[in-house]
Amino acid sequence: MSTRPRSFASDNASGVCPEAWEALAEANRGHTPAYGADPWTERAVALLRETFETDCRVYFTFTGTAANALALGACVRSHHAILAHELAHIEVDECGAPEFFTGGAKVVRVDGAHGKLEPAAVTEAAERRRDVHFPRARAVSLTQATEMGTVYTAEEVRALAAAARTARMAVHIDGARFANAVATLESPPRELSADAGVDVLCLGGTKNGLPAGEAVLFFNGELADEFESRIKQAGQLASKARFLAAPWVGVLENGAWLRHARNANTRAAQLESGLRRLAERWPYVTIVHPREANVVFVRLPPSTMSGLQAAGWFFYDFPAAGGARLMCSWDTTESDVNDFLDAIAALLPDSRPDEETDAYPVMRH
Ligand SMILES: *Cc1c(COP(=O)(O)O)cnc(C)c1O
Repeated sequence: MSTRPRSFASDNASGVCPEAWEALAEANRGHTPAYGADPWTERAVALLRETFETDCRVYFTFTGTAANALALGACVRSHHAILAHELAHIEVDECGAPEFFTGGAKVVRVDGAHGKLEPAAVTEAAERRRDVHFPRARAVSLTQATEMGTVYTAEEVRALAAAARTARMAVHIDGARFANAVATLESPPRELSADAGVDVLCLGGTKNGLPAGEAVLFFNGELADEFESRIKQAGQLASKARFLAAPWVGVLENGAWLRHARNANTRAAQLESGLRRLAERWPYVTIVHPREANVVFVRLPPSTMSGLQAAGWFFYDFPAAGGARLMCSWDTTESDVNDFLDAIAALLPDSRPDEETDAYPVMRH
């Protein structure tokens, strides 16, 4: 069995960071009570409260899909709607889990440049229909960092939360890459969540270097009522809970979660500036979205993309997002990025390819 070399497919293609791995080994000693009554869970909850400087309610799930769907289930009832960006993970990548775990609530798509929602668009979407025939919007879901790799500033989150509050909507954050946003903005986590008026945050661990696991943080304690039963019903209550909790202790105790996020962001910045240098010679190479976290979206000729794929470089093409998605991880190195840039440069044709006749290549999700 072999693993591929480091590549740019996703931050879940990477392995487990040493801090999480060591904490798991440490947790693997002796017996503890099950279902979260163990000291590792207690410590992880305490560290998350410390990190967010607030007494939030904390739960753990195995996947981000479960975290999002169950958190949204706590925010709305079955006859409600949830507003989300048209390319939000909850809308396009969760197989209807939010609809299922809310018992039928409708996800209503709102558009916005570079993956971001704007308060005016949220207000407009909430007010568009007020008759009995359309579900009332009772939650808005933001992704931080967004699917397009942009970030919301604390001020932007506050403005969206204020718009949501006016329209009587709860605010949910899909924070699969929240660590990367914190690393970019260098804002205290609470300023991007509790202080900004966020009700519930699904904090990503997997893409930050954990083997598996996300944390659901309720800043609005009322919404957390009976949440543990939702977790259990969905099959997300870990019996050996210490192994979901210990990796969090490993990365939170010494700031590794932010160090790893910062590394991923730095490598994406290196990749972006390398691509901009290539664009000086090959102007058809274009960066599609502002690079603000750990991903670069770039338009490359189809022949270049398939050539890279054939040479063993793995990444996804996201036509809906306008280009190839190049994602950096906690363990991406400076030389990984340099080698990749060399490989790209070697495959760029001299003149702009004819995109009408040159079919889109094979790389799909
Ligand atoms: C990866 C990701 C998730 C979580 O996905 P799972 O595969 O269910 O763990 C959620 N939201 C976004 C934006 C993601 O990129």
